[in-house]
Amino acid sequence: MKKFWVLLGVAFCVSLYAKTGKQGSPEQTKSVLPKNIILLIGDGFGVSHLSVRVLLGSSVWKQFSFVGLMATYAEDNLVTDSAAGGTALSTGFGTKNGFIAMSSTGEKLTTVMEYAKKRKKATGLVVTSTVTHATPAVFYAHESSRANENAIALWVTNETMDVMVGGGLSYFGYRFTNEEMVKAYSAWAGVETNSISLAQWMAYRGWKVVSQPGDFFALQKERKILALLAYGALPSVAQGRTYSLGELTSKALELLSQETNGFFLMVEGSQIDWACHDNNVTNLFPEMADFETAVEVALDFAKKDKNTLVVVTADHETGGLALLGGVREKFIRVTFASKDHTAALVPILAYGPGADGFTGLLENTGVGQKLIELVQRR
Ligand SMILES: [Zn+2]
Repeated sequence: MKKFWVLLGVAFCVSLYAKTGKQGSPEQTKSVLPKNIILLIGDGFGVSHLSVRVLLGSSVWKQFSFVGLMATYAEDNLVTDSAAGGTALSTGFGTKNGFIAMSSTGEKLTTVMEYAKKRKKATGLVVTSTVTHATPAVFYAHESSRANENAIALWVTNETMDVMVGGGLSYFGYRFTNEEMVKAYSAWAGVETNSISLAQWMAYRGWKVVSQPGDFFALQKERKILALLAYGALPSVAQGRTYSLGELTSKALELLSQETNGFFLMVEGSQIDWACHDNNVTNLFPEMADFETAVEVALDFAKKDKNTLVVVTADHETGGLALLGGVREKFIRVTFASKDHTAALVPILAYGPGADGFTGLLENTGVGQKLIELVQRR
């Protein structure tokens, strides 16, 4: 009998441990699934890039509960481009460089945004490149060449995205001459015309199309937004862009969080990559700081909301950035080993419900699969 009580006691203690022993703060609980997901991609943002920010004293990175490393190779190349690297993250499948959410044999790969739409979630993207550039494109378009941004722009008519913010107005001038479309637009707008632009068609479809940053920030209750804030890419920070990626992200979050079923937002610090291609430190450092403003906004939102997973990673490393020395929290001397992308692993950091799935050594396709799984489960 005594033995029985001892055994019972042990069993009770074990079950108690199982319930509470491994439990951390709420965001670390495995069983909790995120309602919202914010994926931030620093294009070209490798481990050395993150090191620069951390060593210069940025504290935002210390707030992530889970950190890992991610391999970035493409199907045909150890060094990926943003199309294949992004496709792995957006669809969970590998493909050849240049392909946009499409397999190398030409099959369309369903994107995490398309899965989110099926779950009646709101979808958004905020980038500093054109919204038709490779990284944003892999979330809503399916093309065999990233170069054809005019063709990518036409995928917007599928309405996979609800909120699109970035540059690329020039790709929305495509003219439709289809009689029915022109007739429908003419009746709606009360004008006589023989052809309509892609931007006009989207306006007819109920989208709020804006090209001035002030008009975007002034938006209130709109649900479908196409904010094309520059003809090409947005100005770089060094060129004097007057608003940060963080401010754009904050406004996008305000608009997306109106939806009751949750949302999936992708934010890209697009021009980190370009500064590294140019081996231009003067551009690189402000672009990384700008990307970080968006990371801060996402974290603040997730902390208040408690239902939001934040994942920060890169599609690949660019420049073979190396840190040579400096003074902590003051300056860092860097050099570049390449003018192109490299095969180096990139960091992945996660915070919020589901964050524990993004730790250890990961593959980019595995991260894409996990994001899709999380979207489908809640
Ligand atoms: Zn690049």
